[in-house]
Amino acid sequence: MINLKDIKKSFNRQPVLKGINLKVGKGEVVTILGPSGSGKTTLLRCLNFLDKPDEGIVQVGDVQVKSKKATKREILSLRRQSAMVFQHYNLFAHKTVLENVMEGLIVTKKYKKAEAKRESELLLEKVGLGDKHNHFPSQLSGGQQQRVGIARALALNPEVILFDEPTSALDPELVGEVLSVIKTIAQEGITMVIVTHEMSFAREVSDRVLFMDGGVIVEEGSPLEIFNAPKEERTRQFLNRIS
Ligand code: ADP
Repeated sequence: MINLKDIKKSFNRQPVLKGINLKVGKGEVVTILGPSGSGKTTLLRCLNFLDKPDEGIVQVGDVQVKSKKATKREILSLRRQSAMVFQHYNLFAHKTVLENVMEGLIVTKKYKKAEAKRESELLLEKVGLGDKHNHFPSQLSGGQQQRVGIARALALNPEVILFDEPTSALDPELVGEVLSVIKTIAQEGITMVIVTHEMSFAREVSDRVLFMDGGVIVEEGSPLEIFNAPKEERTRQFLNRIS
């Protein structure tokens, strides 16, 4: 479903991704761990060209884009393959919960309004917000806002959902409700790449865990391999520090 070949990215001549190769299978749930500044978010953003890689090839679904020759059209079709859930939700503040979810269906998927409404209602039900249709984002808790963010991503019916630290802006007591929604979706077989600092969640939900440091994938393996028997010293140090 995803194939990254030798992705490199620098900001202000500072290399942030130093040649990332990664394949993710259909339905696979991959979590990315690593210290702050190791390039996790940049990697996620290169997957949909929110950050344009300097070098390498990005393939998601049946769309392949070479960083150096990417046309606008290719980038648009690449973006349609995935949906992103952001750390700070990025909801439209002046739209209701229902309108936030409907937006993508109407604009991107060209649904008629009634159809978009029906579909959005189902999705809001799914993330446990069936009673909040007419609320505005500011009237919701962070956890509820993030669940709207997830419903909005699902509405696009993407091949892949990218989660960029979906719970790191939340008060601790709100983290659980968001993680449990993500777990439910993961079980439905949608391909996911999740940047997270929630170790027990990563252990539970992942088919595969990647550990990044200094712009490279230092180690990857099953949750059991990474959490119980990491091979690399850098992985061990990181896990010791945060546990
Ligand atoms: P992580 O998600 O692992 O914390 P990031 O991918 O956010 O790491 O950032 C990696 C490095 O790239 C950091 O040093 C960060 O400051 C830098 N960086 C990320 N985005 C930009 C940008 N748009 N402009 C300049 N530097 C950036």
